Amino acid sequence: MKTALRSLKRGTVGALILLCMGCSSLPDSRPAPVAASIAYSMADFARVPKYDAHVHANNQDPAFLEQARADGFELLSINVDYPAFPSVALQHAAAVALAERDPARFHWATTFTMKGFGSEGWTERVDAGLAADVASGARAVKVWKNIGMVEKDAGGRLVMLDDPRLSPVADRVQALGVPLIAHQGEPYNCWLPLEEMTTDNDREYFREHPEYHMYLHPEMPGYEDLMGARDRFVAAHPQLQVVGAHLASLEYDVDRIAAFLDRFPNASVDLAARMSQVQYQSVRDREKVRDFFIRYQDRLLYGTDLTFGPDADPTQFRQEAHAVWSADWRYLATGESQRVDMINADVPGLALPRAVVDKIYHANAVRVFAPAPAGGAGG
Ligand SMILES: [Zn+2]
Repeated sequence: MKTALRSLKRGTVGALILLCMGCSSLPDSRPAPVAASIAYSMADFARVPKYDAHVHANNQDPAFLEQARADGFELLSINVDYPAFPSVALQHAAAVALAERDPARFHWATTFTMKGFGSEGWTERVDAGLAADVASGARAVKVWKNIGMVEKDAGGRLVMLDDPRLSPVADRVQALGVPLIAHQGEPYNCWLPLEEMTTDNDREYFREHPEYHMYLHPEMPGYEDLMGARDRFVAAHPQLQVVGAHLASLEYDVDRIAAFLDRFPNASVDLAARMSQVQYQSVRDREKVRDFFIRYQDRLLYGTDLTFGPDADPTQFRQEAHAVWSADWRYLATGESQRVDMINADVPGLALPRAVVDKIYHANAVRVFAPAPAGGAGG
């Protein structure tokens, strides 16, 4: 209601109604507020509370936090066992330091490494590590694409997410009362040759990381193998809260994301690093994509994958973060068009209703990444 009043005060419809206040009654034929009048504008960007639920603050410099403060964001920084990142221990140290600096704005997710998987004591070590991290403030646990794509067991077989030896980890995360952020597989483009990919960001990433470009590795599990393993895992843990990172790797088709969310009521998905794939679809059918956001407004989490590396220039990073956040706001919250080079197209904004933006940009993340319940860490 407050939202509607705010928009009426600002919009032309509001002016018409104010002009009519001296009338004995409002005319029955008064125009309904047009969509634009219930959408936010760029002027609202900095003041509306927002939450970037997928970043990597791998640097203790306060620049990321300062930009988040300036642009009205809370952050969830996700630690991940990624060889191109600093060690998990260093990521952990950065997260704890930044959370101490601004506990209301900076939140973090922990992870575990697969080192020693399958050997005696691995499960107990992971259990103890996750319990300690959640007790010290971690809001979630991340499981990465190395499961299903890199890690092998002692017998030389790839470890898939539905491996029964990973089940105790899922049980532990559930007992701790935090969600599991699952990044399994890759964008569908990963299984296509570079020239057939739909977005330049995928083309660049897989050109730079041929080790993850599955089109070059036909001996590896296919896209559907990885999605299938992930789905079996989620189905086997119906009480576990799962956040499918990067639109659950189903980014190329909002219908598939919808089917995933319909099938798994305890799952949500984040938008990190997949906005261009969504835009690729909305320039072809804007209403379909807009309807998807409205229908699943309680299950979608805004995220970017912004990564502040240890060697990054703080000033440059702040500019990059502001540019990414502003461009995404323009697309999701307003009706303005913008050029998106990654898909070589002018992309009209979705102008989502304010109430939908408030959920996707803030309320859903606050709910999903709430502090672990007291006692969960001992469970
Ligand atoms: Zn990420």
